[in-house]
Amino acid sequence: MKSEDIKAVKALLSIPKRIVIIPHRNPDGDAIGSTLGLMHYLKGYNHDVSVIAPNDYPEFLKWIPGEVSILKFETQQEVSKKLISEAEMMFTLDFNALHRTGNDMAAVLEASDALKIMIDHHQAPDDYATYMYSDVSMSSTCEMVYNFIEMLDDTNKITPEIATCIYVGIMTDTGSFRFRSTTSRTHQVIASLIDKGADNTNIHNQVYDTNSYSRLQLLGRALQNLKVIPEFHTAHITLSQAELDEFNFKKGDTEGIVNYALSIQNTRLAAIFIENTQEGIIKISLRSKGDFSVNELSRKHFNGGGHTNAAGGRSEDTLEATVEKFITILPEYKSQLA
Ligand code: 5GP
Ligand code: MN
Repeated sequence: MKSEDIKAVKALLSIPKRIVIIPHRNPDGDAIGSTLGLMHYLKGYNHDVSVIAPNDYPEFLKWIPGEVSILKFETQQEVSKKLISEAEMMFTLDFNALHRTGNDMAAVLEASDALKIMIDHHQAPDDYATYMYSDVSMSSTCEMVYNFIEMLDDTNKITPEIATCIYVGIMTDTGSFRFRSTTSRTHQVIASLIDKGADNTNIHNQVYDTNSYSRLQLLGRALQNLKVIPEFHTAHITLSQAELDEFNFKKGDTEGIVNYALSIQNTRLAAIFIENTQEGIIKISLRSKGDFSVNELSRKHFNGGGHTNAAGGRSEDTLEATVEKFITILPEYKSQLA
């Protein structure tokens, strides 16, 4: 962020304001961690702050400090709309375009007169915010929230609650500090968060060691459905709606499963295709190793986007037709994959 922007934001925040903070639809650890971390920080300055998520999020995030105060636009429309329309400032965190909150909510956000500030690390950000802190090299929006607080000269105001929230998002978005976006600076931020009261062992337990039996059974089925295409160093997994139902699927149960496909030796591209009959779509998660950009593949073929090594998309075809399409486009990327 430019220093004059920081100055302007600092001036804006010097007087208590009505503020809303918005994560993307189907919020993940980074979206929830960053919005709650920022919420606690702003509340420290007596702002009136609400986090409004477009919809629900996984159980393994439902312990993060302040989580119970999150409003869900999908099921709490009236109060959400009121807060958005009355807000003087709006922070949008961990997404690059308002439509990532869903069409209904995006229209409400667009209509709001609140001054908008974007903090995000996705590629190709839309130009809707007055102040934009957008950096695709960042591990996570949570690391950026730490930087934002630092730019405001306020790291001494980071409480154990704020440290916990920010730790969660850095941990989940870096695959526990292993993805390429993890830098020495990321580890320095993590070290500082532990010093400020983030309990790293407890956070890992809360997020990763709260599996249900049925979730592990679902994982077992996903692994049985895994297919490898050695020619293109590609692996893919499917889960049909019937399979999700069989194993009592709950939001978050499929999180991270795609990484098993990517963990096969010499795999460069991995995908999981998950049927959602309620929305009438196949949700696609793509992961890659090295320079292969799943962001570009998803943008071009699957109405999505994200980062170089992690992206998402969707298809309105059947599960079988979507997988078929995926397989038929691979030759297009032969020089990068083969
Ligand atoms: P996931 O596969 O875990 O849903 O998403 C991986 C990454 O891609 C995340 O950073 C997520 O925000 C991003 N992503 C997922 N779906 C979409 C999408 O439809 N559009 C865009 N632009 N990004 C997405
Ligand atoms: Mn993120």
